[in-house]
Amino acid sequence: MPNNCCHQFIVKKTDLEQKKRKVCKKCGFIDYKNPKVVAGSLVVRNKKFLLCKRAIEPSYGKWTFPSGYLDASETPEEGAIREAKEEVNIKIKLNKLFAIFTVREKNLIQFVFLASHINKNFRPGIETLEARYFDYDEIPWKSLAFPSVAYVIKKYAKPPKKTPIFHTFSKDYGF
Ligand SMILES: [Zn+2]
Repeated sequence: MPNNCCHQFIVKKTDLEQKKRKVCKKCGFIDYKNPKVVAGSLVVRNKKFLLCKRAIEPSYGKWTFPSGYLDASETPEEGAIREAKEEVNIKIKLNKLFAIFTVREKNLIQFVFLASHINKNFRPGIETLEARYFDYDEIPWKSLAFPSVAYVIKKYAKPPKKTPIFHTFSKDYGF
């Protein structure tokens, strides 16, 4: 629905709910703070992990697996595949949903898939400075962009019996 109103918010309880929310006194728009959804993939080839060095803030110059915010009406699977294409120009096949993270302070939910790289080459996209495969022993632990990156790689190395893993990051997420 197009909305050209320059909202003038007041904070009040809405009719059906007990929570106070920002409501526009001109058009009635309610500013729900629903979590954002992020989808990404840990791409593994010959026991090596594909990481991208970020060319954007937050965490510029640090390493992460391909991941990003979903577009409108996109599924997590579609988003993860699109992000891998955008960030490192690869085609991936999703093998399974590995983790679902809640990042409380950032109000976001992240889906992480395990994926295979199905074309030969890769090259960094515009949001990526550099991309390469790392052996577990070469992972730049101190230069990872987000705690979820280390978490996923460590869990992959020592997988729990049951997946997907559900985990909540409460603080110090880094962005
Ligand atoms: Zn308004």
